Amino acid sequence: MKRSTQSFGKTADGREATLFTVTNDNGMSVSVTDFGATVVKICVPDKNGNVADVALGYDTVKGYENNDCYLGAFVGRYANRIGGAKFTLGGKTYELEKNDNGNCLHGGFDPYSTKMHEYEIIEDEDSIGIEFSRLSPDMEQGFPGNLDYTVTYTLTNDNEFIIEYSAVSDKETIVNFTNHTYFNLGGEASGSIYDHLVRIDADAYTPTDKELIPTGVTASVDGTPLDFRTEKPIGRDINADHIDLKNAGGFDQNFVLKTKAGDATLVATLRDPKSGRKMEVYTDLPGIQLYTGNFLKAENTKGGRSYKRGDGVCFESQYFPNSCNVPAFPYKPLKADEEFNSITVYKFIAE
Ligand code: BGC
Repeated sequence: MKRSTQSFGKTADGREATLFTVTNDNGMSVSVTDFGATVVKICVPDKNGNVADVALGYDTVKGYENNDCYLGAFVGRYANRIGGAKFTLGGKTYELEKNDNGNCLHGGFDPYSTKMHEYEIIEDEDSIGIEFSRLSPDMEQGFPGNLDYTVTYTLTNDNEFIIEYSAVSDKETIVNFTNHTYFNLGGEASGSIYDHLVRIDADAYTPTDKELIPTGVTASVDGTPLDFRTEKPIGRDINADHIDLKNAGGFDQNFVLKTKAGDATLVATLRDPKSGRKMEVYTDLPGIQLYTGNFLKAENTKGGRSYKRGDGVCFESQYFPNSCNVPAFPYKPLKADEEFNSITVYKFIAE
């Protein structure tokens, strides 16, 4: 295994960003930056050994400063939507930023993906990790508690890209971290992912209203276009006449997983029949958002090109959207001094 660092450019306000690249013994590499703890590149061999970058993104830090589509973004303090942009904890109601139709999406207007992080390299014989850390101050984005968190990205010689989160707060708070990398197993510049095959091991999902706030119940995927228990192409049912697909303009739903905290379980696969690249998703979190880039529109991306609807797909492991406001959903606030931990693994195979 080897690693290198290079400059990733300067932000408009003069912060110097660094790009860290780790390459394993199979020729797979991952590049991440301290700006936002963002995933910039994931370069993976196909069935003939040709390497392509399967993560959508930008060439320099500049693109990530106004990253409205959250390409490669680490999302905090609370992933996805919080209905009405408020929640109650210990009898107190906290108001958040309304950056999405009166709701709070991915933490609000001041995302973690624009914050500079400290870093530390963790080297082993068969893996190299980069641990990013930061203190999110009390009431940042409107959330209580000084939150000390780390995001560790590790590449192994088994072609696993491991994402581990940990956090501790000095006051009771809520935490829901995710990663918003858009994958295109044909290569980030290869256009639509509608012919990629997806499997998700979920019998149920969380239906939403028109603003994509969960209604508070879970519904069976049986007989619906949301049944991914048998692998199928993304494009097959994306325009189906189903209320949840209409509300989201495609796939943008949270699936109910059969996972257990602390135990990374295989929950989903993504496969590109053309290149033979396959990705397995493992997590210990209770939910995963399948988001097929329905609102994706990004200019001046890698190579000076642009991305449009359907050019990438996200598998965002998470606590269910708005779970801080829905007692029936599996979620517990983080107590003062208690440690938050979660793990998600994207493993790459070529066949
Ligand atoms: C959400 C989408 C949202 C997107 C923003 C996803 O996590 O589920 O509704 O538009 O993030 O890029």
